[in-house]
Amino acid sequence: MKYISTRGGCPPQNFEQVLLSGLAPDGGLFIPQTLPTFSAEQIEAMKSLQYADLALEIVTSFVDGEIPTSQLKKVIDESYVAFKHPEVAPLTRLSEHEYLLELYHGPTLAFKDFALQVLGRLLDHVLRKNDQRVVILGATSGDTGSAALEGCRHSERVEMYILHPYQRVSAVQRKQMTTVPGDNVFNLAIEGNFDDCQRIVKAAFANQAFLPSNKSLVAVNSINWVRILMQIVYYFYAALKLGAPNKKVSFSVPTGNFGDIYAGYLARRMGLPIDRLIVATNKNDILHRFISRNEYSTTELSKTFSPSMDILVSSNFERYLYDLLGKDSPALCKFMDRFGKETLSVSAEQWAQMKSCFDSSSVDDATTCQLISELFTKNSILVDPHTAVGVKSGRDCSENTTSPIVTLATAHPAKFSDAISAAGLKEPNLPEHLGDLFDREERYSVLPNSLSSVTEFIQKHS
Ligand SMILES: *Cc1c(COP(=O)(O)O)cnc(C)c1O
Repeated sequence: MKYISTRGGCPPQNFEQVLLSGLAPDGGLFIPQTLPTFSAEQIEAMKSLQYADLALEIVTSFVDGEIPTSQLKKVIDESYVAFKHPEVAPLTRLSEHEYLLELYHGPTLAFKDFALQVLGRLLDHVLRKNDQRVVILGATSGDTGSAALEGCRHSERVEMYILHPYQRVSAVQRKQMTTVPGDNVFNLAIEGNFDDCQRIVKAAFANQAFLPSNKSLVAVNSINWVRILMQIVYYFYAALKLGAPNKKVSFSVPTGNFGDIYAGYLARRMGLPIDRLIVATNKNDILHRFISRNEYSTTELSKTFSPSMDILVSSNFERYLYDLLGKDSPALCKFMDRFGKETLSVSAEQWAQMKSCFDSSSVDDATTCQLISELFTKNSILVDPHTAVGVKSGRDCSENTTSPIVTLATAHPAKFSDAISAAGLKEPNLPEHLGDLFDREERYSVLPNSLSSVTEFIQKHS
C-alpha cells in the first residue's frame, strides 16, 4: 500500500516512510492511496477476536508486508498488555440506546495510548533495523504529550521535545509529562496557546535545517498516520459487540484535532456499518459551525473544562476535506490558502455529502458540569469533561439516528478534577500506578512563543 499527500505534491510513500515523518514534504497530510475494505462476511469473522488480534487483522492490511507479521504481532500484543482492563476497550451501557467505550485504561489514562504505545514500539523497531536516530517533536493540548513520552521513552534512538501551552493544561496532565525521567526527554512550556504550539511544530517540520544533518524530525501528533490507523480498531471492536455487520452503530466523538473521528470515518468507508458520526465540540466550535451552517471560519480561542478540545483549527480535518473536495489537491490547496482570511463554505452538494455522515453539537462548560453530575447521580458513572461533551452531543443529535450511540470516553475523570469539583462532586483518586504523581520531581522549560526559541533549544540539547 502506498500513501499520498493531500496536497498532491509528493511521490507516493511506503508505510515506513510515512511512519518516520509527519507532515508530507509539500505541507499536506498523508492518506492511503486506496482504502482496504471488508465485506460483511469478513467483518462477521472478526467477532471472536480479542482486541490485540483484531488490531493485527486491521493493521496488517495497511502495513502491506513491510513489517513481518510476527514482529507486528509482538508490537501490538506488548502495547495492549500494558492496559489495565482485560478487554482493553470495555463497552459500558448507559441507557437503552447509549453506550460508553472506555478508552482510558492505558498507562496515561487517555485514548492516545492506543496509538502511541504502538507508534513508540514500531519506531524503535524501524530505527534499530535502519541503525538510525530521530528527533520527535510534538505539540500537545495535554494528553498527547504524556502518551507520546510514555510510548517512546524506552527507545535509545529518539530524543523527544514536547511543547505544551504554558499554564493551559491540567495539573495532572502537566505532571504526567514533566515527571517522565530520562536525558532524552524535554518538556517545553510555550507562552501561548495550543494553536501557537502547533504552528511552531509545523514550521519546524517545514524547515529542518536547524537539525544536525544525520537527524530528522518525526511527528507524534495526530497528523502522524499511525495514530489514525490504530484508532480505527476500536470502532470495529465496539460495533462488533453491538451487532455489526448486521446492525448499525452511531458514534459520538469528543473532537479536537479531528484525528479520532477521522478514524471513525475511515472505518465507515472500510465497510463498518456506522450510521452517524457525531462531532462533539465544546465552545471551540469551528467544526460544529461548518457542519451545521456551512460556515468555516476561525474565532477566538476559549479556555474550557475540556482542554484537549481547546483547538481553533483541527489539523486532521484537511484529510476529510480532501475527500469532500473530490480528491482534488489543487482545490484543497486553494481552500487551505483562503482559510483564516475569510469565511469559507462548500457547494450545496458537498455540504449535503458532509451532512449525510456527520452531525455535530457544541456544549458549554455549565452544561458539561450538569451532565457529569447527572450521570453520576442517575447512572453511578463518573465521566471526564470531554466524555460529558460527547454524551451530551450524542443526545443533542439523537433524532438523526435509530442506532445505538456509542460515546468515546476519551479520558479518565481523575485527569480533569477541576471539572469534577465544578460539577459539585468529590475529586476522584488517580489509579494506583499514578498514586504518587504529585510527589515526583518535575522538569520543564518555559520558552517564549516563537519558532526560534524552540529551534535554538533543540540545537543546544541535541
Ligand atoms: C486528544 C483528545 C481529544 C481530541 O481528539 P482529536 O483526535 O484531537 O480530535 C478528546 N478528548 C481527550 C481526552 C483527548 O485527549
